[in-house]
Amino acid sequence: MSTMTSPVLRAEDRCDRCDAQAFVLVRLSSGRDLQFCVHHYTAHATALAPLADEIVDESSRLFQSPGR
Ligand SMILES: [Zn+2]
Repeated sequence: MSTMTSPVLRAEDRCDRCDAQAFVLVRLSSGRDLQFCVHHYTAHATALAPLADEIVDESSRLFQSPGR
């Protein structure tokens, strides 16, 4: 098992529902990947949880100040 040190999502990754930067990656058990901004992930989290194999939530990066 490897420790993930680098972010999965990039600044270019966009939410599937809007054009905001994506901070949450949802891997569905069907094999599809969905990307969401924090707003839309929060809105859909309850519906997505039973469908998801893995959820990578990098929204904490939103609250980190650069250069610290
Ligand atoms: Zn969005």
